[in-house]
Amino acid sequence: MQKHSQKEHLYKLLVIGDLGVGKTSIIKRYVHQNFSPHYRATIGVDFALKVLNWDAETVVRLQLWDIAGQERFGNMTRVYYREAMGAFIVFDVTRPATFEAVTKWKEDLDSKLVLPNGKPVPAVLLANKCDQGIDVLMNNGIKMDQFCKENGFVGWFETSAKENININEASRCLVKHIIASE
Ligand code: GDP
Ligand code: MG
Repeated sequence: MQKHSQKEHLYKLLVIGDLGVGKTSIIKRYVHQNFSPHYRATIGVDFALKVLNWDAETVVRLQLWDIAGQERFGNMTRVYYREAMGAFIVFDVTRPATFEAVTKWKEDLDSKLVLPNGKPVPAVLLANKCDQGIDVLMNNGIKMDQFCKENGFVGWFETSAKENININEASRCLVKHIIASE
């Protein structure tokens, strides 16, 4: 019988951003394939596991950390960020203030966490609730590619946890960057 040598990676990924932008919904959609329109604030630390068959030789296990109600403080403890390999920073396209908070979240992350090689953790920006038809990005004429470059995001996606848009794609983008930087 042929011996099968599979590589396994376990990555801790953070999902951060202001209250109500859809962090918990994105994780639920990605991991459990469901969505609930009823608002329910997360309490306590919460994480979910997603297993990806990355390629024929590689299995990737993603441990997705939900910020769990602490976003009201606008920053997190070092302990929460510790040993994370990547991050999603989420805002709500219908609420401009949540986009303005994105740079604060990015600064908080980078000030408290660097990779073992001294580089910042790869971060992907998620413009969530794109199903709503209200787009603060377009209205403000903000050039997202430029914004990502200036603020050190490896990419950005318009997502919808409700309609299941671009969540898999965003995750693949982040994982690709993590694997490449290892
Ligand atoms: P969190 O505080 O960032 O974890 O946000 P939640 O996941 O709890 O979502 C806040 C509210 O936004 C809930 O009522 C969700 O149903 C709703 N929501 C989340 N994602 C989407 C989305 O992609 N589209 C729409 N229309 N609503 C969403
Ligand atoms: Mg939540």
